Amino acid sequence: MAWIDFVVFLLLFALLVYVFASVSITKLHKAYLTFHFFMMFWPFCQFAIKVTENPKVQLFYVMLAFVDLGLLAVGWLFFTFLLTRDSLPSKKKSFLIPLPALLGAIAAICNPNSLFVEPVNGGYYERIYGPIFWITAPLLLGYGIVSLYMIYKTLVSDNAPRIKKQVKQVLRGIMVMIIFICADILVNVVFPLPQKVTPGLTSLGILFSAVFFVIAIHRDKVLDLLSIAHQDIINTITNGILVLDDNETIIEINRSLSPFLDLKIGDRFDISMIIPQHESVDKKEKFINTYRENPLNRIEVDVLYLFNEPCFVYIHVSPIMVSGTRAGRIITFQDMTEIRRLIDETTLQNEILQERNQSLISIQQELHLTNQKLQEMAVTDGLTGCYNRHYLTQQLEREVNKNMEYQIPFSILLLDIDFFKLINDNYGHMVGDEVICGTVSMIKQILRPSDILARFGGEEFIIYLPNTTSSEANQLAEQILNTVESNAIKVPHIIQSLSITISIGLLSIHQFPEENPLNSRDTLNDMFQSVDQVLYQAKRGGRNRIASVII
Ligand code: GH3
Ligand code: MG
Ligand code: MG
Repeated sequence: MAWIDFVVFLLLFALLVYVFASVSITKLHKAYLTFHFFMMFWPFCQFAIKVTENPKVQLFYVMLAFVDLGLLAVGWLFFTFLLTRDSLPSKKKSFLIPLPALLGAIAAICNPNSLFVEPVNGGYYERIYGPIFWITAPLLLGYGIVSLYMIYKTLVSDNAPRIKKQVKQVLRGIMVMIIFICADILVNVVFPLPQKVTPGLTSLGILFSAVFFVIAIHRDKVLDLLSIAHQDIINTITNGILVLDDNETIIEINRSLSPFLDLKIGDRFDISMIIPQHESVDKKEKFINTYRENPLNRIEVDVLYLFNEPCFVYIHVSPIMVSGTRAGRIITFQDMTEIRRLIDETTLQNEILQERNQSLISIQQELHLTNQKLQEMAVTDGLTGCYNRHYLTQQLEREVNKNMEYQIPFSILLLDIDFFKLINDNYGHMVGDEVICGTVSMIKQILRPSDILARFGGEEFIIYLPNTTSSEANQLAEQILNTVESNAIKVPHIIQSLSITISIGLLSIHQFPEENPLNSRDTLNDMFQSVDQVLYQAKRGGRNRIASVII
């Protein structure tokens, strides 16, 4: 029954090992704490040997002390690996590392025929170490030698000065320990005084080396490196960070946030405090209600703080979940003022660009219109608004070529106002001009859309009638003749209307030469000459008539 307590002790110890292995501290933490734990065991065992008279219990503690020494040696080697930042050997090889210590421990536990340790005077307070001890001792010493070699390598390497400093301090620790252990072996094992044991030498060595380690750890904050780094990151981050526990108590507030919120760790947090009064009631209520009623939701809101300068802040709340339950919240504050300003600036620039673009488009449209007008002016007769001679020649060259190619009949009318000089003489040039314009507008009403009316010069006009035979052209010419004759032209400058007549020369081309002429300009000139001759016939024939020729 006495074992129950011991089993409970073992169970509690197993739990401690489990917690220790599973908590999220660094490997260096774990290595050091394990190491320290084993350091504590040696003096404890030495003490325990001395407080009992029972040789069996004494032997148990002797064995325990040597098992602990093996573990200490292995732990020490791993600790050195971590401290010197040396890469650990591969898994297979690192499995071999504890093997010598394990053999030593087995030898100590079995103590076959008392070949490891022998009692003196029926107890183990004084003891004689046998040959197995002397085989085991160099194995354990090997761990120390390998660690010393690694430390030496680190000191001569180009590692960071900080690491070298730590390693030097640890080296001092291990030297002290080795000196004390050697002294212990010399005084109590190699040259033991009869009936006299000098106690505590190795224990003191362990204590002094532990003090060296603790100094190194404290001075260089070796074990706090990660948490210092975390704190630094949190404090240098520009976003404000607020961490709350599930009771809405502040457990972390970073440096970026503290100037803006008058809160410190331990204060109770009230979400309504962080929404400025001037924000709309709707927005405030919606955010606060969701915050309070749905603590598992991630929520966000953007608000405007009116400090010295307006400050746009984006607040984001998210729950901290631990194993599926909410353990608290993280609230982050992101200053969006600069981003907003940039967005506004970009939008403004965009608007300016759009305006410029718009004005460029209207300038382009104006230019297009002007261009159109210029083009129109280039082909239009200034007085009458019908096409000019230049345009007519251009068009006719193209049309004649086309008609010749496809054998399409066409006609040309040459019109001339009869006795126009008399009008000029009697009423003046201004009236003459108006008569010319009046005549043109009468003719325009009769023409078909495809016909081209152009001022040929003075009071002479040419009408090109595409795809028109002689008889069709004749009909049209007669219609023009009659309209002009029967409609007197109203001239504002004189009281009465003026009646005029015109003569028309008609040229119709129905047949085309076999081969196309080399020069269309010559063909045109020939045509103009022909139609002019026909017009002359009409004039000679008494005017107000049509004379025609068909080719
Ligand atoms: P005809 O019946 O033989 O054609 O007699 P006409 O008097 O009309 O003779 P002609 O056609 O040779 O005369 C043309 C006249 O038209 C000469 C010129 O003074 C006049 N004229 C030419 N261009 C213009 C113009 O733009 N405006 C005005 N008012 N008169 C012009
Ligand atoms: Mg004339
Ligand atoms: Mg005339």
